[in-house]
Amino acid sequence: MSKGQHSGTHSAPPPAPDPLPLPIVDNHTHLDISREGHEPVDVAAAIAAAKRVGVNRMVQVGCDLDGARWTVQVIDEHPELLGGIAIHPNEAPKHNERGDLAEALAEIEALAAHPRVRAIGETGLDYFRTGPEGVVAQQDSFRWHIDLAKRTGKALQIHDRDSHDDVLRILQEEGAPEKVVLHCFSGDVTMARECVDRGYYLSYSGTVTFKNARPLRNALAVTPLEHVLVETDAPYLTPAPHRGAPNAPYLTPVTLRLMADVLNVSVPTLCAAVSDNSEQVYGPW
Ligand SMILES: [Zn+2]
Repeated sequence: MSKGQHSGTHSAPPPAPDPLPLPIVDNHTHLDISREGHEPVDVAAAIAAAKRVGVNRMVQVGCDLDGARWTVQVIDEHPELLGGIAIHPNEAPKHNERGDLAEALAEIEALAAHPRVRAIGETGLDYFRTGPEGVVAQQDSFRWHIDLAKRTGKALQIHDRDSHDDVLRILQEEGAPEKVVLHCFSGDVTMARECVDRGYYLSYSGTVTFKNARPLRNALAVTPLEHVLVETDAPYLTPAPHRGAPNAPYLTPVTLRLMADVLNVSVPTLCAAVSDNSEQVYGPW
């Protein structure tokens, strides 16, 4: 590739934010994924950079078979990490078409026996990227993951893109696991209140910092501190003003500080809340 062809994709990484006064947890990150045109993530360096600014623990999410296999290895090597594993809602229809969905789910179940896999996810529904032909496979797979979380006593991490009503309906129909996290929460005030009434946790990502995200900030404003989590979903959803650069766990404080403003609480108060809530959901580590 000629030099300059990808100018822009290799822009310097955003500077490290000021360290937080208390440690926090990045509830959802993909260290196994690097953005197109970028080197694979150096896991030890990513964890070190995160810890320098107070992000001392992370939930590593592997949501296809390769990612799940990688996750159970990396959580053994790094005590800062817990694992979440699942077949992603955009992957389930592909497995279904190939006729190997049952086999893939069986492998997820076997890998989920690892004691440091503490979340089943991300699972759920995505009506944005998968068309109507994939809905049945997505919903079947979602129901299966809900059942796995209940059978294993692990938290359920939900991906919900343009599918709020069906996500809430299916959770109700199946009976939700004890701990449910809506990862990258994208609902409005009404949905936030419904989730809180049901005892779910709402994990806010960099999207809450986006200029056009006022409805999401309004949802955050009515979320009680006991239900709030923070995440990067790295390498995606980089918080403003760094949109366009790859996201990484060391940028979590950018999102957390904006959240403290919206919630009208101090930064240390929110740090303590997200760490406590993370331990409530995943157990100590
Ligand atoms: Zn994710």
